[in-house]
Parts: sequence; C-alpha cells; structure tokens
Amino acid sequence: MKRESGYNVPMRILIVEDEKDLAKNIKRGLTEEGFAVDVALDGEEGKYMIQNEPYDLVILDLMLPKLDGISLCNEIRSNGIKVPILMLTAKSEVGNKIEGLNSGADDYLTKPFDFEELKARIYALLRRGSTNELPILEINDLKLNPSKHEVFRNEIKLELTPKEFSILELLLRNKEKVITRTQILEHVWDYNFESMSNLVDVLIGTLRKKVDMKKQEKLIRTVYGVGFKISQENEKS
Ligand code: CA
Repeated sequence: MKRESGYNVPMRILIVEDEKDLAKNIKRGLTEEGFAVDVALDGEEGKYMIQNEPYDLVILDLMLPKLDGISLCNEIRSNGIKVPILMLTAKSEVGNKIEGLNSGADDYLTKPFDFEELKARIYALLRRGSTNELPILEINDLKLNPSKHEVFRNEIKLELTPKEFSILELLLRNKEKVITRTQILEHVWDYNFESMSNLVDVLIGTLRKKVDMKKQEKLIRTVYGVGFKISQENEKS
C-alpha cells in the first residue's frame, strides 16, 4: 500500500511477536503487499522501536517476554504515541481482549487467524488513521503538513522529493535534537539498509537548497561528527 498523493514511501508496519515462525510468516505476507515490515521479538524491543521509528501501524501480541502487550500499549499511549495498534490474542486469552482495547489498542484479532482477515483489519485501521489529520509540524516560517505531504517556507510551497520530505519530517519531529546519519538511513530506507552515509549528505544538501533559501534564517544545521538537526538558534553558518 502506497501513501496518498504520490508520496512513494511504503507504509511501515512493526510486528511485535515472540513466536518467530508466526512473525516471519506475517512479515512475508505483508512485504508481498508492499509494506516495509520490521519485527521485534519481545516487548521491550518493541517499545523501543515504536518510540524511535515512525510506524504507520503496529501488530502487537498480548503475551510477550520482558513486557506484555497491554503494558506496552499503556506505556506508549501515555507517552502520546498514537500509532494504530492491532492486538493479537490467543484463543485462551480472549477474556483479555476488553483489557487490550481499554489499554489503547484499536482492534484485536484472535489466534489462529486467517491472513486475509489480518490484511482486512490492517487496511481498515490504516484507512481510519488516514482520516485523522496529523498535526502540522513547524519551526519559524517552515511548515510541514504530514497529511497532505506539503511543505511551505514563508508561505511558498516547496517541491520536495519523497526522500527529502521524509528526512525533513524526521528532523521536524525531533526539533532541536541531533539526528545521526544512521537514524536518517533507517527512517528513509528499510531498517537494515546498508549504510551509505554519503547518500544522506547528498540528500541533506539538496534539501537545504530548497528549504534554506537565500536571505532567510538557516534552519538545517550540521552537527560535525554526529549528524544534523533542525533548530531556530541563531548561528551564522
Ligand atoms: Ca506470545
């Protein structure tokens, strides 16, 4: 499934599931559907990935080592993370489904399930999600609308490539924080993409030309030896 309006970065799904074979099968099926899929094998790893990667949807098993699905769900919701969550429960745990939904999951599916059923639930959740307008990200006169995939600087619309857009979105979601080249690569490409830090510098270069036009305050900054950040501190560069 591709994003709307020609933004050709695949939707990203995280599977948090300790049954390796099941996780592998779901991953294969969803990859064939065109999603970019990561797997976490325990609750702690899953929580870490949800907090650090912009997933479009999470498939979350209820019974997990280290941190169970309900606690994970409670924790990320209390941190304000709104990613749609589809919870998986074993048949014997069906009594837990109400608890799962109360903890902030958006839907649940009982194991064993049919892959087609899983797919239908995923598409329903993604459609529901896309009707919610995401908040505009902004710094100074730079505004990025994640729902419409539009960027404006000083009221002028910027034409960015999908990868430039995605990098800018990442920087804006982490305003004033340094983002490393590796984080940029992991965000824009699949999780295990081979490191090509030069590619990041090239893309940052073209992004800067579009975002930081002449005679305006420069927003995208290089933090030497570490990475990049978007910030409104007044430095001359
Ligand atoms: Ca399990």
